[in-house]
Amino acid sequence: VTDWQGKNVTVAGLGVSGVPAAKVLHGLGAQVTVVNDGDDERARAQAAELEALGITVRLGDGDTLPQDTELVVTAPGWKPDKPLFAAAAQAGVPVWGDVELAWRLRGPDAAPWLAVTGTNGKTTTVQMLASILKAAGLRTAAVGNIGVSLLDAVLGDEQYDVLAVELSSYQLHWAPSLRAHSAAVLNLAPDHLDWHGSMEAYAADKGRIYEGNRIACVYNVADEATENLVRAADVEEGCRAVGFTLGTPGPSQLGVVEGILVDRAFVENRQKNAQELAEVADVNPPAPHNVANALAAAALARAFGVPAKAVRDGLRAFTPDAHRIAHVADVDGVAYVDDSKATNTHAAEASLAAYESIVWIAGGLAKGATFDELVAKSAKHLRGVVLIGADRALIREALARHAPEVPVVDLDRTDTGAMLAAVREARRLATAGDTVLLAPACASMDMFANYNKRGDAFAEAVRELGA
Ligand code: ADP
Repeated sequence: VTDWQGKNVTVAGLGVSGVPAAKVLHGLGAQVTVVNDGDDERARAQAAELEALGITVRLGDGDTLPQDTELVVTAPGWKPDKPLFAAAAQAGVPVWGDVELAWRLRGPDAAPWLAVTGTNGKTTTVQMLASILKAAGLRTAAVGNIGVSLLDAVLGDEQYDVLAVELSSYQLHWAPSLRAHSAAVLNLAPDHLDWHGSMEAYAADKGRIYEGNRIACVYNVADEATENLVRAADVEEGCRAVGFTLGTPGPSQLGVVEGILVDRAFVENRQKNAQELAEVADVNPPAPHNVANALAAAALARAFGVPAKAVRDGLRAFTPDAHRIAHVADVDGVAYVDDSKATNTHAAEASLAAYESIVWIAGGLAKGATFDELVAKSAKHLRGVVLIGADRALIREALARHAPEVPVVDLDRTDTGAMLAAVREARRLATAGDTVLLAPACASMDMFANYNKRGDAFAEAVRELGA
């Protein structure tokens, strides 16, 4: 689309993606109508703001497609089986998500996108990637699900050489024409299946990120599903499949040899068959799953032509966001670690694998997950377990099946003081050298506003303990 003047565009959903999308489209001259399911105070405030600009807003009516709609631009979270989309399909009206909109609106000299998706590790990897690109002197930003919004990055005044783009499976579902320079799928575990309908549909949406890649499709050697997605993708001629592994890398892979991250895919000096990039100790924190994230970031940066030294400098300059395996304090020789962001079992499994002897604080909202695999795989690391939150019985039952000898304290509490009680119980179970790890494997909303608040409550409780 180049001529937006008078075009009838329906924006589905207010909020973080809908409000800016409506404003941008209105600014381009489109005739914008926003439809929104909710009709609460926040929606009314946002509606008033848009209506003041001359944009039509229909609150409490997200299922009806307005007459004469020529294009729907949807918030990424809207489920594909909503009646609005059936109506759009019926009328032959295309549906774009926020990413598709940004992709289509980017200018002719726009910066290429290095894109990252996966069930876990997206934010961390994209931030590492941006840090590496910056260390190479490139003008870049971490955008998408995090930091700068994609629309701002594409339409704002700031000039970029390349963008490090985090994409969720929802966003990819609604981004049919996106073509990244290079892209990575970090891992693939069941998540959001209620939205996508099936594991196959979820994988297919993630796999969209590889479509049309020009230089490299980066996959996880340890996760065959990611490699299968590369095989299924239709890419530009000459685009390569590049694997990352925590073991010794094969040709066209990045991996780890004796504590050194090495690259056998993008070697600068043709005499060598591998290029040293950085040390494992340069990765913060150096937990295995995070080294995998660093390798994926390095692969994308190298695909963009970044020298080895920038990988090391960029990784050293990187500090993780809060609540992602954050070391809170040592009390009486016990380390207290906050991985509140481990909101699903796959993430919790990664952090439980990173420590030898753990008192594990877990529980919350399970979102339909089962815990047998997680508990069976992690049992040998567990010194003890403290359970909190609404769905803790599911974890307790899995522990009884797969780790019957591990002591479990089942705190029948969801009140605000529960975290302090949990930390006290954990301290009782721990001995010097152990790690008390908050990695709930569950969402937080039964007890907290979000995972940040849950992690803050943990850190606060640890501080009280130490005082
Ligand atoms: P996302 O943006 O995909 O949610 P984050 O980088 O915010 O990912 O990390 C979320 C959580 O997932 C972390 O707290 C950690 O527990 C876990 N995690 C991070 N990287 C990985 C990985 N490569 N594999 C498995 N779990 C991971």
